[in-house]
Amino acid sequence: MWTHLLGCAGFISMLFYVADATCDAEGEGGAVGAECLERWPLYVFLTSATVCLGTSTVYHLFGTANEKWEIALRNVDYGGIVSLIVGSCAPVVHFGFGDAYPLTRIVYMFAIGGLGAAVLVCSFTPWFDRHNGLRVALFVALALSGVVALLHAMVAHDFSPRVVSMLHGVLAMGATYLLGVGFYATHFPESLRPARTFDLIGSSHCIWHVCVVLAALRHYSTVVALWRDSAHG
Ligand SMILES: [Zn+2]
Repeated sequence: MWTHLLGCAGFISMLFYVADATCDAEGEGGAVGAECLERWPLYVFLTSATVCLGTSTVYHLFGTANEKWEIALRNVDYGGIVSLIVGSCAPVVHFGFGDAYPLTRIVYMFAIGGLGAAVLVCSFTPWFDRHNGLRVALFVALALSGVVALLHAMVAHDFSPRVVSMLHGVLAMGATYLLGVGFYATHFPESLRPARTFDLIGSSHCIWHVCVVLAALRHYSTVVALWRDSAHG
């Protein structure tokens, strides 16, 4: 339990560090004006990842205090997941469509943002917590709305290498999430040796957290590459 809390906290500070590093690298490159304007989707994503890891850490730290806190903080944790999904979609939509399709870009932003807000409202209702399958389905649907936007962007840009490379990055991120969900759902490896062997380290939930952080970092490298591309291209 403590290991993944420390992991979460470590990665939160790393995400802040990476946000700073982006600024530094930009200073060296010259032509700052145009790049600065385009940088906001990166911050949206970094903030959403930080919110997700932060709320998850708070939930795991204080959720055990009593039942009331447990329920309240679990809802906050779900809200963090919604934030991460929407925040991951924002740079994909923005850089995917680029300046060539400003209206389509705005429509997708509002559609995904609206869908995210709807799921967020749901996440604070009692039934959201009771229905595991439905909850996962809503999260997946939200994430798929970003994939739909990306596929549309790919067709709109006639399968340009830039947008296709983004699809590769998003697929790698998706695979990492799926791996984590696999551990999360099957409770492997502690399902094999239930006698508290994996309580401290290596539990399925711990692996799930590591997968989330790795997937978020993978996505960050994807969108940073795109941002560099959109700034210089
Ligand atoms: Zn957790």
